[in-house]
Amino acid sequence: MIKVIKNGTVITMDEKRNKKYENLDIVIKDDTIIDICNNYNGEYDLVIDATGKIVMPGLINSHTHLGMSIFRATNDNLNLNDWLTKKIWPIEDNLTDSDVYYSTLLSCIEMIKTGTVMANDMYFNSDGCIKAIKEAKVRCLFGHCLMDKDGDERIEKLKSLYEANKDNELIKFSVAPHAFYTCSKDYLKKCSDLALNLDIPLHIHFAENLDEVRGIEKDYKKDLASVLEEVGLLRNKLILAHATFITEEDLLKLKDKDVSFVHNPVSNLNLGCGIANISKYRNYVNICLGTDGQGSGNNMNLFYHMSLVDLLQKGLYKNPTISSSYETLKMATINGAKALGVSDIIGSIEIGKKADIIILDMNDILVYPTVDLITNIVHNVSPNNVLTTIINGEILMQDNKLNLDIDIEKLKQQINLIINRAMK
Ligand SMILES: [Zn+2]
Repeated sequence: MIKVIKNGTVITMDEKRNKKYENLDIVIKDDTIIDICNNYNGEYDLVIDATGKIVMPGLINSHTHLGMSIFRATNDNLNLNDWLTKKIWPIEDNLTDSDVYYSTLLSCIEMIKTGTVMANDMYFNSDGCIKAIKEAKVRCLFGHCLMDKDGDERIEKLKSLYEANKDNELIKFSVAPHAFYTCSKDYLKKCSDLALNLDIPLHIHFAENLDEVRGIEKDYKKDLASVLEEVGLLRNKLILAHATFITEEDLLKLKDKDVSFVHNPVSNLNLGCGIANISKYRNYVNICLGTDGQGSGNNMNLFYHMSLVDLLQKGLYKNPTISSSYETLKMATINGAKALGVSDIIGSIEIGKKADIIILDMNDILVYPTVDLITNIVHNVSPNNVLTTIINGEILMQDNKLNLDIDIEKLKQQINLIINRAMK
């Protein structure tokens, strides 16, 4: 099956190209981009006319908890510790695989409708998560949440999920210990060894707020980079979610390691954690973008989160030249792909990569006119402007219409049942 996305303004995010965007045709054979050219006149089965539209790589959300959509915007007036221990964990303890399946499915639909093609997820009731991810046909690097409590059992569960889904093209696995405050030194070492043995990334919450940093320093009596080294994590392909408080000394020690930081600006603001100094970080490590779960992140619309990234750095530095829209767009595309170990297949539009592509309508009066394309996208695109989402060559949404066999109204009813049972 050959599809041609014709005559769109294409932002490739391919650093090898001279122009940031240009008018191009993209030719897709099954799941793969086989040509990028002007005026394609070869054979085809389907044409998507993108005249006057923007074509770009699908976005990558590098830190999520897809099963948390039922907690959307529930964090008013609570700090991280109170929110987790009083509001989230008591409810999560009673969730079933079926609850998490529906909650994850809702998040996957939110991804498709907001132009996100891949999530780096960490959650539990993982059979439910994986069932939903498969049905929605989105990409995911999935980590069964690991912590001391039932620690060995959790590791066995991860191993069995990994074995059972080894050949799945869209779902890959990480080793995902929850955080230093829920995992002992020995358990973290075990997680690090496991990730090395399976040759998969390790994803962990790290240095999210100052209390957590003080706790780690008290337990380990070392700087943060040395703590990571002590438990073995610097041997891993390491994804640190948040990393809100990393010093220059730490950054120097992390510089030559395979470490990515996932910036989660909305979650960090909501929980009063602070603003990560990513303008400094990016000189040392790869920086990508996450929403966190909707409980603290409110939504998974990465366009909204991108706008905040850019504005926060300019405000933090009292300097508008510290951040650029293009750098911010990289965080949600190619930098995310690098962090998740998939930059050979997605994150930019290039021949040989998988067709994970979105199409935007910038003729909408709310984003009109477009004078500086990248800036207008980063600051003004809303989900309504995302017309089409293609993942692995499959058109999952076209002209705002979902092509999935999922009954949205029924899904909302199921979500309401879960909320009525678990939260009231
Ligand atoms: Zn998180």
